[in-house]
Amino acid sequence: MNKGTLVVVSGFSGAGKGTVLSQVFQRRPDLYFSVSFTTRAPRTGEQDGVDYHFITREAFEERIHRGEFLEYAEYVGNYYGTSLKVIQEKLDQGIDVILEIEIQGAAKVREKMPEAVSLFLVPPSFEELSRRLHSRGTDSEETIQQRLATARREVKEIVNYDYIVVNDTVEQAVGEILAILVAESCRRERRRDLIEGVNGL
Ligand code: 5GP
Repeated sequence: MNKGTLVVVSGFSGAGKGTVLSQVFQRRPDLYFSVSFTTRAPRTGEQDGVDYHFITREAFEERIHRGEFLEYAEYVGNYYGTSLKVIQEKLDQGIDVILEIEIQGAAKVREKMPEAVSLFLVPPSFEELSRRLHSRGTDSEETIQQRLATARREVKEIVNYDYIVVNDTVEQAVGEILAILVAESCRRERRRDLIEGVNGL
């Protein structure tokens, strides 16, 4: 059996990753969306175990020491991390895994798993990004300014990603991501079983 593909999705905070990815999931329920661990407080409507595993700093640091994370990063004052065990299990079962993580984490994943495919989601403009962050109404002005400053720094990292997806309309961004997933699944190295099958004829 072919191993699953690890797909890393990053994008500026407010670029619409959540909305776009939830629609990708509706269209591709066979994909596994990794649930990260975080030390940040849940936002209204977020559920523990669904949106994130919400844990304390102490519990997070214990997990770091036990080597339980494929990657982790500190972002706007909080830890975020991906469980190594869960990801490995899914990939071994041939299931494609989506990680929605920020750029430091994405760089670590590329280092540890160079076969991972990475996508960066951008809004059509910086003005639009600022507008979206404000209209979300979930963060303080200070947090929004921090997120915008982080986004300005992150622009330089985009060159390290395999694909750039523009979130002009959600539908268009979802379409681009679905197309990338299909193209990636057709790569020769991911179709070894077919080649082996032909040779065995
Ligand atoms: P938010 O607080 O808005 O949910 O997420 C903040 C940032 O953390 C987003 O860019 C999101 O992609 C990123 N993030 C979420 N989970 C993880 C993770 O497991 N690892 C890393 N490195 N970043 C994550």
